[in-house]
Amino acid sequence: MNPWYKSSTEGNTGKEESVVIELGIHDPAAWKRRALERASVDVSDAIARCMERLRSQLTITMDEEDDAFIRTADLAFLVDEKRAERFRNLLAQPLKQRQNKKTGEVATLWYTNSYRLISCEPANEDGTRFRAVTRLALGAWKVREPKKENEAATRKHKLDLILVKMLGSVIHYALKDLIEPLPRLMGDNVCRQAAHDLVTYLACVESDKVRGETSFPSTEDRNPERRRRSYELAIDALVHDLTPIRRVTLREAVPGTYAADDPKGDKRIIQDERWTEVMKSPFPKLAPLMFLCGDGIRLIQGVTAFDAGTSKANRHRGCMHVSPYVRANRPERVRKHGISELRQWYAAVPLSEYAERPPESERKRGLNLHFRSAPIQGDEPYVERNGHLLLLLSQKDTHAFRTLRRRDLHIAQSQLLQKKGGWFLQLTLRLRTPAVRDPKRVLGISFGLDAIASWSLLSVKGKALKQGALSPNAQILSFLVRKAEMEWDQKKGRWVGGRRFAGELERIAHDVANSLLALAEEHDAALAVENVSYVQKAGPDHQQNLLFSAWNFGQLTKILEYKSKIAGRLNFYASDYVTKFTCPACGAIGNAKEPPAKRKTWRNEQGELECRKCGRTAPVLPHDRAARAARHGIKLIHDRNKRAKKRTG
Ligand SMILES: [Zn+2]
Repeated sequence: MNPWYKSSTEGNTGKEESVVIELGIHDPAAWKRRALERASVDVSDAIARCMERLRSQLTITMDEEDDAFIRTADLAFLVDEKRAERFRNLLAQPLKQRQNKKTGEVATLWYTNSYRLISCEPANEDGTRFRAVTRLALGAWKVREPKKENEAATRKHKLDLILVKMLGSVIHYALKDLIEPLPRLMGDNVCRQAAHDLVTYLACVESDKVRGETSFPSTEDRNPERRRRSYELAIDALVHDLTPIRRVTLREAVPGTYAADDPKGDKRIIQDERWTEVMKSPFPKLAPLMFLCGDGIRLIQGVTAFDAGTSKANRHRGCMHVSPYVRANRPERVRKHGISELRQWYAAVPLSEYAERPPESERKRGLNLHFRSAPIQGDEPYVERNGHLLLLLSQKDTHAFRTLRRRDLHIAQSQLLQKKGGWFLQLTLRLRTPAVRDPKRVLGISFGLDAIASWSLLSVKGKALKQGALSPNAQILSFLVRKAEMEWDQKKGRWVGGRRFAGELERIAHDVANSLLALAEEHDAALAVENVSYVQKAGPDHQQNLLFSAWNFGQLTKILEYKSKIAGRLNFYASDYVTKFTCPACGAIGNAKEPPAKRKTWRNEQGELECRKCGRTAPVLPHDRAARAARHGIKLIHDRNKRAKKRTG
């Protein structure tokens, strides 16, 4: 059987898809962590400076009819003679045209270039400086013709905004003096982030959904030092001021939201400046370090040879202590060579200028460490350059790297970000997915209490072909019991530090997703997954409850989604209301808005589904739910085919 991740993409005409995968970084050494933090603070500071400057160069005029909407937003900046020459060439081009994909109509746009430059005039008398203006946004009223005779025409204000990518390039020209001192890869990052913030700001000013005044974005408080100082000041202010903290009811805090008889409106919340200041955490979320070009971060595989007598724990600590006891307990094959090998994946990040390297003596990494680039970035051996900081990835060779071994992927963008106290590497992969053939079958999947996943295979004609379940094996169950024990200890206030489960759970989720995809591959089926929104527990201390509280369905669904994208499989979702309330015998389903006494199907106290149409009274089994999800998938496939037919005519 062909593993799902090795799907052949030869000769495919599928479209290009983006997939984001996340790799954890193995607890980096203190000096590496400092480098990442310093770089992140630098990025924040640079963005803050850019935003400050952009604010002074931005002119927003509001609409004449309704001053809640933007008429124009223009960014003015100075450029030199050479750049001005290029800009004038762009301005001399004919107006841009765009074809509507649906109707085929060609519309003439109001600008001549994607930067949306509208003018470039001399700014001083000797003609060495020029003032360029880019129109970031242009608002207009659109009239919608009435569909029926008695309807009136409606008018809506539309804002035509510049693309973030293009604005990023404009900012590069406009704030050259601020960007140039930064390392190149970081400069691009700062421009893109500033562009993103500016476009979001304009959209917020325009939107009627955003209440109150929109403030201009600032990232000043991303600096941990500054934030810590303001936190200490806030604590001081709170301690020295003895007036009681002000509380108001929710009804007063958000007027107009709660009816007079709504008890929710009586809830009292703290509304006090001093408290708000304190509640801002002293540890700001650091700005992510983005590398917009694909090869900004290199993925490399390192193979290190160790003396067989070095214990595994010591290898990670970089300690080369050799013990005859450890050596004597190594497998025969390792003992014979006297050497064992450790394979690990690293991310090589161009941030070395932020690192103060510790003395060579503290940086032992084993004997004869050699690196090879990941296949995704070409097979050539990796030459360790001084410009790179090596970060050990915590994923095992077998996991995410199975995906990365595919040769038709490329990295479009990568970023390092901090969350949950650790650092993570996010890769945006571009891949051409195999052309989606019309699936012949649909694999319905339901997550449940008795089995981690139950599945039903249906042909697209709706015929049930096969069904089965992935039961939690003894190993998973014992793991879940351990997790429950920890939660019990936690409740009793016992020390539970050092016990971690998230990683193991994720591994199980990957295994389940892989099995399901292998199944879909085997039967050439699309996937239809039941969306779990609510789980009914079986009773106190029930082992199934353990399974459910420990199990993260959202994560499993996400993993399934990105893996099916890579495998070129269609992935549909069915709501769990539909799967739980459809009669398996006749297909009737009750309207959720109706009271149970009137509904076509309803759930009685024994948890059985009663059907008023055909009179069946029985519990809905996991397989029934999986089959219902598959039927939903079949319907979506038919809809999809209908749309495709309409398009081709
Ligand atoms: Zn029925």
